[in-house]
Amino acid sequence: MTLLPSPFFSITHHHHHYSIISQSPPSSFFTSITASTPSRQRRCCSRWVPMDSTQPHRYPTGDKNKLLVLLGATGTGKSRLSIDLATRFYGEVINSDKMQVYKGLDITTNKMPMHERSGIPHHLLGEIDSEKGEFTPADFRSIGDLTICDIVSRQRFPILAGGSNSFVHALVAERFNPDSNVFHGSGSVSSELRYNCCFIWVDVSLPVLFDYLSVRVDDMLDLGMFEELAEFYDHEKYPGEPTNRTGLMKAIGVPEFESYFRRFPPKQGTKTEKRSKKENDKRKSEAGGEREGYEEAVREIKDNTCQLAKKQIGKILRLRGGGWVMRKVDATASFRAAMAATGSREGWREIWEREVLEPSVKIVRRFLEE
Ligand code: ATP
Repeated sequence: MTLLPSPFFSITHHHHHYSIISQSPPSSFFTSITASTPSRQRRCCSRWVPMDSTQPHRYPTGDKNKLLVLLGATGTGKSRLSIDLATRFYGEVINSDKMQVYKGLDITTNKMPMHERSGIPHHLLGEIDSEKGEFTPADFRSIGDLTICDIVSRQRFPILAGGSNSFVHALVAERFNPDSNVFHGSGSVSSELRYNCCFIWVDVSLPVLFDYLSVRVDDMLDLGMFEELAEFYDHEKYPGEPTNRTGLMKAIGVPEFESYFRRFPPKQGTKTEKRSKKENDKRKSEAGGEREGYEEAVREIKDNTCQLAKKQIGKILRLRGGGWVMRKVDATASFRAAMAATGSREGWREIWEREVLEPSVKIVRRFLEE
């Protein structure tokens, strides 16, 4: 295992203008931080920079904090990689998936379970109360920056992982306009960045990823995704119009199962028992339109997940086109092996270590030595 000494981390400009946040601050904390930020100032990693400054602030690269950013479509293994890299480089992970920032729907949004995190601290993962409104890219920019400063002040290495490219752009862009969306034509990608970033793009060829994502949805259902959504439907009272949806209501799985639950409401107030794979299969053979409704929802979830992956790749290309220098690692072979594996997980892991982990470790080591 390679462990790097702390001088590699750029902490030269850390002046502690704010108090250090704990690892899991309550969500009310976020609201108060956002609300109390003076309107004519912005915080640029522990420094106050006047908003109306005519000169754009530029510091030599060496003065900026180092940040590793893992990009990639949903399902490509960014979370796994972030933990493996965090373990080797004294890292901590900041989640940048806009659905995983919220509390709840852990299976549906595919949050990395605690026991798989190898003790690595995770930030902004399941911390925000979805009922208090949307957590915006602007919120992510300010809270994410505080989190990075906190991690660096403890001489740990911040690693950003998650599929929401609008969150990644909002956080790392030197100039950010909350009113324009860089992915929908109205804004341009900021080529200047607030941190010294190393971008690794975990790529999986689309047909292979699609096959995997379809299997992953079945696995999530076996883990209890349907029951989790039934309970959510029971408690949340879904809004009538899709345009009203905010926060977790937009998570893939919620809209897709809505018409099913309207027709076959979950039993009020009772916790839906998690069903086994056998019982899930049995549900598929039930009569009375319930089976068709269930299957249609599952099909839609699979389709929409694949659409999401495709869109995310388009956004990554857009960021690259905007001048973000990315190193690409190709996880296709390991995914193929995992899909083909009959019982042997080891073969898959070996390829992944050789073709994804090792190249990534080399990239990060060089980055930290710069
Ligand atoms: P956008 O420009 O649409 O905001 P983005 O790159 O910021 O895109 P994505 O992560 O691509 O954000 O999320 C877009 C949509 O995909 C979400 O609104 C949600 O419907 C769905 N989605 C994203 N991540 C998840 C997840 N972990 N679980 C369920 N649904 C998700």
